Amino acid sequence: MAEHGAIFAAMLQEFNVAARIINLEPGIWNILTHPKRQIIVSCPVQMDNGEIEVFTGYRVQYNITLGPAKGGIRYHPDVSLDEVTALAAWMTWKCAVAHIPFGGAKGGIVCDPTRMSRRELEALTRRYVAEIVDNIGPEKDVPAPDVNTNDQIMAWVMDTYSMHVGHTATAVVTGKPIEMGGSLGRREATGRGVMIVTLEAAKHVGLDINGLRIGIQGFGNVGSVSADLLAQAGAKIVAVTDWKGGVYNERGLDIATLLEYAASHDKTVDGFPGGDRLSNDKLWDLNVDVLIPAALENQITMENAPSIKAKIITEGANGPTTPDAHSYLHKRGVFIIPDILANAGGVTTSYFEWVQDRYGYFWEEKDVNERLEKKMCEAFEAVLKTSIKYQVDMRTAAYIVAIQRVGTVTRMRGMYA
Ligand code: NAD
Repeated sequence: MAEHGAIFAAMLQEFNVAARIINLEPGIWNILTHPKRQIIVSCPVQMDNGEIEVFTGYRVQYNITLGPAKGGIRYHPDVSLDEVTALAAWMTWKCAVAHIPFGGAKGGIVCDPTRMSRRELEALTRRYVAEIVDNIGPEKDVPAPDVNTNDQIMAWVMDTYSMHVGHTATAVVTGKPIEMGGSLGRREATGRGVMIVTLEAAKHVGLDINGLRIGIQGFGNVGSVSADLLAQAGAKIVAVTDWKGGVYNERGLDIATLLEYAASHDKTVDGFPGGDRLSNDKLWDLNVDVLIPAALENQITMENAPSIKAKIITEGANGPTTPDAHSYLHKRGVFIIPDILANAGGVTTSYFEWVQDRYGYFWEEKDVNERLEKKMCEAFEAVLKTSIKYQVDMRTAAYIVAIQRVGTVTRMRGMYA
């Protein structure tokens, strides 16, 4: 494989801590720290001005021991093989923690979708899929949306794949529009999972959900659904911030009104009249029981960690806590629910979508939600038990659970040579 970059090294650092604790044998250690397959493709696209541009696309299938590879496709100028490989590894551990029969993958195209027309995006998507068509499929590798990709792009992925294989193959991709084989409940699934594990953590720590004071960074898909569902469960969402600003109300924000406000104000909560203005930095100082970072990576750092008063941090976003801030907060007794557990509701419901597509039989939303709750509670319990058994933080425990699940099957399957 190519040289490790900084992002893959960060993944390895977390992996190695857990692997050492369980005395993982060198052979399995070696297998689990190498990507199974890294694909690099060049995608020529005729742009609207008539010129031809060539975009670089990646698809990394990190591990397929437990089942088909699973992971999103992102469109961003900073996409790199290092980033895609690390994200594919994290998907492997996330699927294993969620206990769903998938391996881990990730894809990406180096491009700036904000400067591309709809036609150019469609052409790029179709060409990328055509380039990797032999390597994806319901039994092989099942993509999904990620940064800057959405259900329309997934519809193009599905159509292009289907044209190549000569029949309609809905299960090749998840995160599709409901009309063409998407799952009810998928849009809310990550936030719903965040809500479920936060309630489980509150029980464990001994906090009452009624009146639980919560601060949330990010009011997009994950943050807004988490806020809404936690408020419905009895918690008090006292603060919400986003890229533009934030809002604070000691008595609890009216989330239904805040949702309406954000929908009609360029998706921001900034300027909401139902509370006082709050800056992003001040969120971390607030006197709250729970903090939910649900925006970007590296938000909780050694700069703000010392002023954090929350007893629980639920990582809705991927990688929101730096390693040194994580270890400092853990030592101080803060209960941190790691990203690969906390935001696994999304991929779990993607699994449900794939199951429904393959069945050709679609569930009611309440069935999807009930099954998600069962899966998230089981995953939380497995990680909690492991953290108690090995006397480690929840992140290390989640890695231990993942390594044990993938490692066990790797040993059972044996070496093919
Ligand atoms: P989104 O684009 O819907 O929302 C992102 C939110 O973050 C917006 O409210 C935005 O204003 C806010 N934000 C952006 N920059 C910010 C900044 N500098 N400071 C404060 N807030 C800022 O994204 P999403 O789908 O909700 O994803 C959020 C995080 O959750 C990401 O890390 C993503 O990888 C992770 N995640 C999402 C899903 C999913 O199903 N959507 C699943 C797993 C993980």
